[in-house]
Amino acid sequence: MTGRTVFTGGTLFPVHNPGREPYRGHLVTDAAGTIIEIGAGEHVPGPEPETVVDLSGALVLPGFVSAHSHLWQSVFRGVADGCSTMAWIERLHKRFGPALEPGDMYAFTRHGERDLLRHGITTICNHTHEFGAGPAEQWQAALDSTARIAYSFSPPLWSSAAERLSVLDKFLHLIADDRHRVLALSMNTTGPHSVSEMRRESALLGELGIGLHAHYLEDPNVAAVQQDGFDDLMAGGRIGPDTVLAHFIHTTPRIRDAAAHAGAAMVWNPLSNGRLGSGIADIPRYRDAGLRIGMGVDGQASADTPDPFQNMRTGLYLLRAATCNAAILDARTILRMHTLDSAAVLGVDRVVGSLEVGKAGDFVVCDPAVPWTDLPAAQLWPLAVLALSAADITDVYLGGRRVSGGPADRDRALEHECRDRVSRLHRAA
Ligand SMILES: [Zn+2]
Repeated sequence: MTGRTVFTGGTLFPVHNPGREPYRGHLVTDAAGTIIEIGAGEHVPGPEPETVVDLSGALVLPGFVSAHSHLWQSVFRGVADGCSTMAWIERLHKRFGPALEPGDMYAFTRHGERDLLRHGITTICNHTHEFGAGPAEQWQAALDSTARIAYSFSPPLWSSAAERLSVLDKFLHLIADDRHRVLALSMNTTGPHSVSEMRRESALLGELGIGLHAHYLEDPNVAAVQQDGFDDLMAGGRIGPDTVLAHFIHTTPRIRDAAAHAGAAMVWNPLSNGRLGSGIADIPRYRDAGLRIGMGVDGQASADTPDPFQNMRTGLYLLRAATCNAAILDARTILRMHTLDSAAVLGVDRVVGSLEVGKAGDFVVCDPAVPWTDLPAAQLWPLAVLALSAADITDVYLGGRRVSGGPADRDRALEHECRDRVSRLHRAA
C-alpha cells in the first residue's frame, strides 16, 4: 500500500481562495497525512492501491483553530456565573489552583483537548497556567495530544524578571528533546516589569524563537490601568509581529492603530467575552486598521461548550446587533477567521488552516439535517456558519486519519477520572 487515502464526493470549502466558492471534489493525503492532491470532480486513480473514503453528501470544512484556549479549565464548566473576569478568576483559579495535586493538570488538560477535538477544533493554542505540578504535566499532555498544539508557556506572572528567566530556563531544559513536537511556542508575557526588563525579555524570546502571548484589555474594570501601560509595553518590545493579544477589547484608536502598525495580532473570543460580560471587540475597525485577527474559544470554564459554530455566530450576531447592520461581517469571512487566519496568527498557517496541497489533511465532515444540495454554491458559506453546529459533525480527520466522531464521541474513562479528581478538589477547596 502507498498509504494514500482518497476522500471523494465531499463539498470542500476553500477558505484560502477568495475567488472560489465551495465545490464538490476530492482530496488525497499521503502516508504522512499531508494533502498531495485536491480538486473538483472525481480523483483519477493511479496504478498504486489507495484507500477510498466516500464523503458524498457531506460538507468538508478545514479543521478549526482555537488561537487562545486554557485546556485545563474544561472540567470547571458552569463555574461563577454572573462574575466578570477578575471575580471569575477568584472563584476558579484562586479557589482550586492551590488545591491541585499531581496528575490533575495532566488529566484536565487531556480532557480539554479531547473536548475541543470532538467539536472540530484540530489545532489549539493552549495558554497554560503555572499552578499545579508546574509545566511538566501540561507539557506532557501536549506531547500526548491528538490535536495539534501550539504551546504557550506561563511562568509565575507576578514574580521578578530574574525569576521568570530562571523558570523559563528550566522549562527550556524540560522541553529540549521534544520541542519540535508542538507546532509553535510562546510565553505568557503578562506581568508588571520595567521597560528595560521587558525589552531584555522580549529580545531573549525573539532569539529563542518563542512568541509573546498575553491577555490584554479584557476586563472593563481594569481597562483604564492597562491602557495607561500601553506605551511601556510598546517601548518594552511586547507589542510586535510575534505578539498575540488575547481579547484586546477595550482599545483606544491610538492603541488599536499602534498595535496594527507594529504587526501584532489579537484573538477574538466571542463566547467567553459574552459569558464574562467583557465587551465586544470592534472587529470591523480592527480589520480596517489592518490588525491581524484570529479566533479562540478561550477556556471551557468561560466558553462552556467549545462549539466553533456557536463561537462564530455569537461574534457575528453581537457585532450585527450592536451596529444595527447585518452586513457588518459575513459568514465567509468569519469562517476564514476561525481557520486560516487563526493559524496565521499563531504562525502555523504553512501547516494548517486550509485545505491546500502541502498542508496537513485536517478537516471536519458535517452532515446537515436539512436539504442543501440545490443551494447556489455561494450560499453554502452562510449555511455552514449560520445553520450548522458541532452536533452536525460526523467525523474529524487529522492528518488524513479519523480521530473523532463528533461531540457524542466521548472518553468515558477520562471523564470518570476527572470527576473523581474534581470531587476531591471540591472537598478540599
Ligand atoms: Zn484566556
